[in-house]
Amino acid sequence: MKLILLGAAGSGKGTMAKKISADFKVPQISTGDMFREIAKQGGTLGEKVKKLMASGSLIPNEITFEVLKKRLEKDDCKNGFILDGFPRSLDQAEMLKNVTDVDAVISIELPFSELEKRLVNRRICSFCGDIDNVSYEGYTGDCRKCGKKLFQRDDDKPEAIKNRLEVYKKSVTPLINFYGDKVMTVSSAGSPEETYAPVKTFLSKLEAKA
Ligand code: ADP
Ligand code: ZN
Repeated sequence: MKLILLGAAGSGKGTMAKKISADFKVPQISTGDMFREIAKQGGTLGEKVKKLMASGSLIPNEITFEVLKKRLEKDDCKNGFILDGFPRSLDQAEMLKNVTDVDAVISIELPFSELEKRLVNRRICSFCGDIDNVSYEGYTGDCRKCGKKLFQRDDDKPEAIKNRLEVYKKSVTPLINFYGDKVMTVSSAGSPEETYAPVKTFLSKLEAKA
């Protein structure tokens, strides 16, 4: 199954991708994760990527295309994949079309005010990578899963958030139109489980048809 997941930052896109990946046995391909890895490695490319990401701007297409193409050529993508964070523009959708077709597009929706709130409160564990937040009684700055220190992503700071959400808003409508009746829309206002349930049903039917 070849899938695309659309959703703004804070929509729960990563969580959803993990669930789909586990249930339908397809690798989760997150361009954001790949770029964070490249940024960590440093060098000319790493520094450039790091700077762009910190401000909430997109990475240039020629870099993004190359990174993604290489990833899609790996063996584990033979039976499908779930793209998380790609495509982010019509150009990227056209590029993908030249490489492979897709079976379905899941679009996660949530009002921007809610996304903003989730993002400023979001914290990541420096050790286990879990996604946590500051909005509960008795927050200490430590991970609730493993006890290690939480940190805030550079692009979860208010200036960058605004930019990221604006960039997303501009890109998503043309993408929804581009993929037409392949798109399934779901609200993530409820819990992760509530959000995932209709998606699982939809994908199970799709899988049965194939
Ligand atoms: P989020 O969706 O939470 O903003 P991601 O982890 O998907 O974050 O992406 C983080 C950053 O990585 C983006 O702000 C952008 O700089 C870069 N990035 C990820 N995917 C793409 C892409 N398809 N094209 C260009 N830049 C990308
Ligand atoms: Zn942890």
